[in-house]
Amino acid sequence: MSWQKFRSETLEIRDHQSPCTQTVNAVIDTPDLSNLRVLAVHEAGHASCATNLGLVVEAIEIDGLDGYSYVADLDRARPSIQLAILSAGAAAERGLTGRKMESRPHENSDAQRIADVLRLVDRRERAAVMAQAEQMAKRLVWVHRGTIFKVATALLQQCSSAGQPQARLDGDALSDALGGPAVVAILRAAARPRDA
Ligand SMILES: [Zn+2]
Repeated sequence: MSWQKFRSETLEIRDHQSPCTQTVNAVIDTPDLSNLRVLAVHEAGHASCATNLGLVVEAIEIDGLDGYSYVADLDRARPSIQLAILSAGAAAERGLTGRKMESRPHENSDAQRIADVLRLVDRRERAAVMAQAEQMAKRLVWVHRGTIFKVATALLQQCSSAGQPQARLDGDALSDALGGPAVVAILRAAARPRDA
């Protein structure tokens, strides 16, 4: 089994810094919660899309305003499936929050991974395959928006309890949020008809 780890863009949390020095520390310690919400929806979008396309999501993490979705065997899926899952983060941001994460200082973005996958596709078909994948991501994100908000809310609740942007959703809690253990088990079985 191989593992694919997404790393989302680092969010700018200091954009509301006050010039007033005595308040700067407090402001820096308080993340911009609307950005954190966009990040949680972004990761939930990847995870929900992967689950609905038959892949297994092992965990979702928010760590210091970076986000990660752990999807098993992503690189064994068809390129069109990989592209849809990789597009689903941005599709969820735009479609469900009407926002887009702005600060993207890291090079291992979804865009870079998408470019890597597209290299596996015939050059003449790339534009069409990508357009189809984006459509699929957009549609899945919209159809499963209830699940995505549920997963995002679970992540944000953990951040809230921790008092900082730290969350990890896995095991039963993740299965429940993504649609319940039964659904996940069915999807898991459907994804691997020949592995038994
Ligand atoms: Zn992403």
